[in-house]
Amino acid sequence: MHDLNADLHSHSTASDGTLGAAALAARAKANGVELWALTDHDELGGLPAARAAAEAAGLRFVDGIEISVTFAGTTVHIVGLGIDPGNDELVAGIDEVRAGRELRAKQMGDGLAKIGIKGAYEGAIKLAPNPNLVSRTHFGRFLIASGVAPDMHAVFRRYLTEGKPGYVEHRWAKLGDAVRWIRGAGGVAVIAHPGRYKFTPTEEYALFTEFQAHGGEGVEVVTGSHHAGDIVKYTETALEFGLLASRGSDFHDPGESRLDLGLLPGQLQLSPRLTPVWSRWTAAELRAQPVLS
Ligand code: AMP
Ligand code: MN
Ligand code: MN
Ligand code: MN
Repeated sequence: MHDLNADLHSHSTASDGTLGAAALAARAKANGVELWALTDHDELGGLPAARAAAEAAGLRFVDGIEISVTFAGTTVHIVGLGIDPGNDELVAGIDEVRAGRELRAKQMGDGLAKIGIKGAYEGAIKLAPNPNLVSRTHFGRFLIASGVAPDMHAVFRRYLTEGKPGYVEHRWAKLGDAVRWIRGAGGVAVIAHPGRYKFTPTEEYALFTEFQAHGGEGVEVVTGSHHAGDIVKYTETALEFGLLASRGSDFHDPGESRLDLGLLPGQLQLSPRLTPVWSRWTAAELRAQPVLS
C-alpha cells in the first residue's frame, strides 16, 4: 500500500498547468502512476475530461481540487481529494474564491506597468486558457517570454512575491470554509506543501490544530515542494497529529516543475509508519474507476 505510485497533486490547463487532460493522463500512465488526482487551483472544470482520459488510459483516478485560503495573513493551499465535482456548495464556494482573480490580475498589470513593464495583464490573459483562472504563474510565463527574467524562480523572487511590483494582497477563502466545502462534497481535506509556508512554529501549530478542528484529515508529506528535511519533518507532524499522509508531484509543466508526474526520478515513498490518504478509499471504490491494464 505504501509503495503505490500515487500522484495526488497536479495541474492542467484548467488552472495554471500547461498540459490538457489527455496529455496529463498519457504522461501519468507512461511514468507508471497507479493512482492519479487532478487538483487544479479553485477550479473543477478539468475533472470530467481528466477522468475520461484516465479511464481510457487504464489509470485509477481521484477527483481533486486545490483551494486557495488565507490563514494568519498568509496564502495556504488546501487540497481536496475524492470530492464530488457536482456538489453545489463546493461549486458555489470556489466560484466566489475565483471571482477576485480578474481584478487582482489587472492590479498586478498596473504594478508592473509602474516599473516600465507594459502589457503584462494582456500578456498573462493570453497565456491563460481558462479566462476565470489567471494566476501569477501566467504572469510569470509572460515575463519570462518577454525576457525580463530567466526562469520561474527568478520571476517570482523579483516580481511576483510580497513587496515586489507585481504582487497584490489578496484575501482568499477561510480555512474552515475550504475544509467544510471539501468534506461536504465527500472529500478528504489535505494541507498542501506545508514546507513552503513561512510560518513561525507557533503559527504552524495553529494551522494544523485549527485545520484539524475544522475536520481536516491529511497533510502532504511527499511533494515537489519538499526537500528531504521537509519530508522527515512532516512525517513526524503527520504522526503527531494523527493525519493521513499524501503524496503528489504538484506537476505544472515539463520544463518548469521540479518533479514529473509520478514523482520521477527517485520514486519518493511515504514512510511505512504513515497511513496513506488512499487507505480511505476502499479497493471497491478504486476498482469502480476501471483498471484496464
Ligand atoms: P496564484 O494562485 O495566482 O497566487 O498563483 C500561485 C501559483 O504560482 C502556485 O500555485 C505556483 O504554481 C506558482 N508559484 C508560487 N510561488 C512560486 C515560486 N516561488 N516559483 C514558481 N512558481 C511559484
Ligand atoms: Mn500552481
Ligand atoms: Mn499549491
Ligand atoms: Mn498545486
